[in-house]
Amino acid sequence: MTLIDKIRAEPEMWDLFTKKEEYNPPFLDKYERFPYYLSKHRDLMEPTLSKYLIDNGLSPEYPHGKKFAVCLTHDIDAIKQTLTNCAVESVKSTIKGNYKHSLQYTISGLDKKQHPFRDFERIMEIEEKHDAKSSFYFLALKPGEKDYNYDLEEVGDEIRDISDNGWEVGLHGGHESYNNLKVMMQEKKLLENVLGKKIVGYRNHYLRFKTPDTWELLSKAGFKYDTTFGYSDCAGFRNGMCHPFRPFNLNTGKEIDILEIPLVIMDRTILDYMRLNSEKAWKLTKQLIDRVEQHRGVITILWHNSSMDGDYLKFYERILKYCSDKNAWMTSGEEILKNYTSK
Ligand SMILES: [Zn+2]
Repeated sequence: MTLIDKIRAEPEMWDLFTKKEEYNPPFLDKYERFPYYLSKHRDLMEPTLSKYLIDNGLSPEYPHGKKFAVCLTHDIDAIKQTLTNCAVESVKSTIKGNYKHSLQYTISGLDKKQHPFRDFERIMEIEEKHDAKSSFYFLALKPGEKDYNYDLEEVGDEIRDISDNGWEVGLHGGHESYNNLKVMMQEKKLLENVLGKKIVGYRNHYLRFKTPDTWELLSKAGFKYDTTFGYSDCAGFRNGMCHPFRPFNLNTGKEIDILEIPLVIMDRTILDYMRLNSEKAWKLTKQLIDRVEQHRGVITILWHNSSMDGDYLKFYERILKYCSDKNAWMTSGEEILKNYTSK
């Protein structure tokens, strides 16, 4: 009997693992997402299924005998602010008396190349100091599409540099992608053409996701892993797992050929949507990291490139330091995938 079969033998655990409740939800939020507040599984802080698997013989291994892993990821929603945005930010900073910031925003409005959002090299340097790597997920939108902010060609050199340095480039699927195979495949192709090689990793914009359909589409489109599966309105373990897993489709009765590396913490979730102050957000973050360490799992963290500034950047560096002190393996989704499939 495999470990997954053991979960299957327990109806309550199987419902949680497969997220049966998400198949026919009473309603969805305005982005067609199944939100945490609709879930009957209230405790997101405990990875109950992962605990069960570990207690029953699951024995994950990480390079260099590391005890657990941190999957670091960045969604590149924007690389520049629009001129209107810049003007608003600049005025706000001036009112607050922050002239340096104000000047920076004004300059970035005039010279798009100088914008801090676009400084991927700096993100890699920050991570390298902690012996960490990460994944950068780029949108592949066209002018006129919702949230279009940049053309992939504009950042072609940077994208290839990221990959050449050993960091991962993956696709950040647009608003339609999670539910439309044609769009998903077009976006994948666009990014692969600019990158000059195949990509394996995916996360959808706004964490838009349809269980189990999005996994099926991703598998058909040729992706090898996804890391969208977390709630935007609450941090934690959406289906009780803090280990990568192969999802199961209750409609077909079959496992889906894709690896899910579930998302646990998103910057905006803990520092905005959950309405925590930074001290409480840190306490929550530590607790989640400690749980994953305890169960020798993988904790996926999403920190936008636009959050690499001020207090948000300090918070990110605090996470890196905390995990580095715990001797975690901090790496990209692609490396987590390789580690998982090498066994
Ligand atoms: Zn996004």
